[in-house]
Amino acid sequence: MTSTTSEFDALRDRALICTQCGLAETRTNVVFGVGHRSARLMIVGEAPGKNEDLQGEPFVGPAGLLLDELLAGIDIARPEVYIANVLKCRPPANRDPKPDEIETCKPYLQEQIRMIRPEVVMTLGNFATKLLLRTDTGITRLRGQRYDWWLGATLIPTFHPAAALRGGEIVKDQMREDFALVRAVLDSTPTAEGQSSSDPKSDREVSGSQMELFP
Ligand code: SF4
Repeated sequence: MTSTTSEFDALRDRALICTQCGLAETRTNVVFGVGHRSARLMIVGEAPGKNEDLQGEPFVGPAGLLLDELLAGIDIARPEVYIANVLKCRPPANRDPKPDEIETCKPYLQEQIRMIRPEVVMTLGNFATKLLLRTDTGITRLRGQRYDWWLGATLIPTFHPAAALRGGEIVKDQMREDFALVRAVLDSTPTAEGQSSSDPKSDREVSGSQMELFP
């Protein structure tokens, strides 16, 4: 076991018993995140919903199926990516997360990104996109583009799958365009030779001039 793996396990273990904000009182399970710990692509959503809270896994149910379909469209299987939310516990009745909950929970996401070091971060929906890009601009204007981001990663925003389920084929087509952009960015930055899953991105430089948009 590498130190990175043990650090990641320790972070997850801390989250699984976290009671730092009021959501601990109403959650069923902490939804820490799932996936490959040296994933090239990390997907960040808003917060667990009912199914996620019950199962302890992000993006299950219809929204998760659509996410899997969109990933398959760019030849990526779910186990190849890492999927997490901004909040690790479900807000009651799926209400919007509160600012103090975000601030309290944010270090978990920060550490997940630091340890995984994805080349591309894809935000799903307004909430995650606004937080990670530190903007008030809505997802409709932000999607369809790539943004140079924290730790040298590229951030690509798109709609939340739940919005696509409500919005129909027009929204799904726009999401397919955004996923195609993810594919193009990944294809333009081939994996470093000799990199192994136990030594994630250790040879990738982090430019000091990168915008520190998150935290
Ligand atoms: S939402 Fe985050 S900060 Fe709040 S209890 Fe859950 S893990 Fe802890």
